[in-house]
Amino acid sequence: MEIDASDKRATMSVGEFASFSPYAKREESKGLGAWRAAVGQQWHQEVQSHADSEGFENEQSISGEIPWHGWTLQLKGRIDQIRVQNNELHAREIKTVSGHLPLDRDSIAQKYKDYCLQLLSYRELLQRSKRYPFDSFRIELYLIEFSTGITQSFILDASFDHLIVDQLDRVADYLDQKRERLEKLRSLKFKSAYATPRQGQETIQSDLKSAFNRSRIVLLEAPTGYGKTGVSWEHGLHKLASGEVERIIYLTSKKTGQLEAIERLNMLLADQYAASYWHIRNKEEHCVNSEFRCSSKICPYLSDLERKWDTAALQPLILAEAKPPPLEQFKTTNAADGICPYEAMRTALSYRDIWVADYNYLFSSSSSRLLGEQPDFDPAKTFLIIDEAHNLPSRVESNSSKELRSLALEALASELTELGADNRLSAQMRSLADECSAYGKGDTLSLRQLDDIADSLMIIVKSFANQPIDYDSISPESMDTLWGLAYGSTAMNERPECFLGWIPENGILKITCIDASTEIRRTLEAFHSCLFLTATLHPIDGFLEQTGLDRLDQTPIHLSPPAPWLNKAYDVAIDMRVDTRFKYRDKSIPTTVSTIAQLADRIAPIAVFFPSYAYADKVKQQLEETRPFYRIASQTRKQLETIEDRAAFIDEALRFSDIIFLTLGSSFAEGVDMLGGKIKAVMVVSPALPEVNPVQQYKREYYKNRNQDGFERAYLQPGIQKVNQALGRLVRAPGQSVKALLQCHRFADTKTRSLLANQYRECNYIFNDDDLNDWLERESQINPPQKI
Ligand code: SF4
Repeated sequence: MEIDASDKRATMSVGEFASFSPYAKREESKGLGAWRAAVGQQWHQEVQSHADSEGFENEQSISGEIPWHGWTLQLKGRIDQIRVQNNELHAREIKTVSGHLPLDRDSIAQKYKDYCLQLLSYRELLQRSKRYPFDSFRIELYLIEFSTGITQSFILDASFDHLIVDQLDRVADYLDQKRERLEKLRSLKFKSAYATPRQGQETIQSDLKSAFNRSRIVLLEAPTGYGKTGVSWEHGLHKLASGEVERIIYLTSKKTGQLEAIERLNMLLADQYAASYWHIRNKEEHCVNSEFRCSSKICPYLSDLERKWDTAALQPLILAEAKPPPLEQFKTTNAADGICPYEAMRTALSYRDIWVADYNYLFSSSSSRLLGEQPDFDPAKTFLIIDEAHNLPSRVESNSSKELRSLALEALASELTELGADNRLSAQMRSLADECSAYGKGDTLSLRQLDDIADSLMIIVKSFANQPIDYDSISPESMDTLWGLAYGSTAMNERPECFLGWIPENGILKITCIDASTEIRRTLEAFHSCLFLTATLHPIDGFLEQTGLDRLDQTPIHLSPPAPWLNKAYDVAIDMRVDTRFKYRDKSIPTTVSTIAQLADRIAPIAVFFPSYAYADKVKQQLEETRPFYRIASQTRKQLETIEDRAAFIDEALRFSDIIFLTLGSSFAEGVDMLGGKIKAVMVVSPALPEVNPVQQYKREYYKNRNQDGFERAYLQPGIQKVNQALGRLVRAPGQSVKALLQCHRFADTKTRSLLANQYRECNYIFNDDDLNDWLERESQINPPQKI
């Protein structure tokens, strides 16, 4: 639906108009829908082949305007059949149905309301068309039972007229609400992100404005503590208030980041909420059923939704509130009305100016339907903010990857047989299962073998589309297998070289995407404008290539405002005594242990970052054995769910520990800034290069074949990016400083050093204990730790 609120004009197809609902609608599964469409088409052709003998003309295009409550609705469609008989125009719509025929009038009006509305809309357009100057119109719904071919002809009389009046009212109400929402935005008032601009922010709003005048894509690279989130909200709210865009989407990869973004947004909106927002959470978080299984046959919160939507209690939560209600309250209210809270959220989104969500809601084919199916979501009128943008390529690559398990495929094949699906489909599934089992652990597939798998997947996906399958009866496990087959299969078929097939365990085939730049670019192309936020884009060429931004019609503008407080804030040294490569790791641990102890003796509490939990565990064990008097706090493998939990961990660690063991790439190294200004020394043990495995090796070859430095792209860049991220969290404001020891001689390699952010590149070298002591001696030169 295209809506021009200022002109009060909406353009849509007759089908869209007929099926419009201001509430979320559960669509039948794509596969079943495609099958129904294929069968429906066959029956259409069968009926239409008799058109001549009946005096009908097939497929007549029609378009026109219907004025309603101040709006002009521009509709267009194609009528299946039309004929003139006795000075009367007879329009017929042919529809296949799954239920049994014949049906009485009320059942048709209730079960097939959309079809009736489609015909009634055609009649409205015919009446207004100069091509059909008739006084009398006859509209016929021609139903065909798809399994038997039994037909029922049903003429819609005047008793159906209220349906179209009600539908026009519904659409006009919805459009009025949208217009009201946009008008309200014209008077949107909000605070500046910072009453007094921080250093480097002085001209940022005008810089952003002029950058967006030159390109739709702007990259804002600024260190932690700069205030990128606040600055981006301020710019986005200006765009909303001026009418340049109709909506903002803010995406970030971690839930903590989403909560922090919302907190910042609330500060800008103060207490007058002229702009409304919603924090999008996943289905499972919304679930109120005893079993998380979203089938209308099993979950009572999905049944009879049309009727339940009119319940009064939900309306204010969905329509009126500018802020989303607390999740538990939202769940309780919806459960009381018998409605799945996730479905209620789907409805509420349409009425919100700002959506805050995880990347997946745009960049994962399994989750992006939530936004894609919103009736008035138009990317061309939307400002997109992508936070922690350096994480985007790896996340989309992971979303585009899949895992095929031969046992799961066998189970799905058996279920399909039981459900009466075509035997060929089960056979295709078993053949794919056999292909998965044909390889042994550690094998990697050649491009040709992967091509064959991609072909098999496409055949299966197409076969599903043409099969009458009762998806509600398939077990959740098999449903997961099924969706796993479908998602990303087209991309694999189009660009097999961007995927690697490999066998992590016998019977399991992993298909890992190593380049999702085409998917990212295609998604971004549709947006009005897009702002990327990150602390580290370095090296920028790699980022542009990984996101496909180097292939856009406009060159992205890179803004990197000054951050003078970082000058001299880091006192960095590289410990050349140690080799942390895997085969030398055990030998180096005693030096690592003694170095940690020396640092802790002088500047406790200190933070020590490791590339893995296993590495941290080994060092901790030796430290505890040799120096049991240190108090050590360790990040555990179990994720701390909430910001409060993480804050409590850091707070306790800072108060009661000498040494805090953390993991690079985890939420304490990215997205959580609680250590900023609170510790005076940090040690990074090893550049966190990814482990050597078939995927990384393939990546290396892939980039090498594109005349790039494969090792740098596959190993160095992701590893050093984690180090840059972790160090960046430690100095957040003027006056803060930290001593950072990078332990491993590999940090001194020219290429590796060049990937470190500017402020860490100037460093000292530790070749022996005296050097370390000298460097530590300089501790007195930096400011005393902040009081906690
Ligand atoms: S439909 Fe909603 S309430 Fe029902 S199982 Fe799914 S998430 Fe839970």
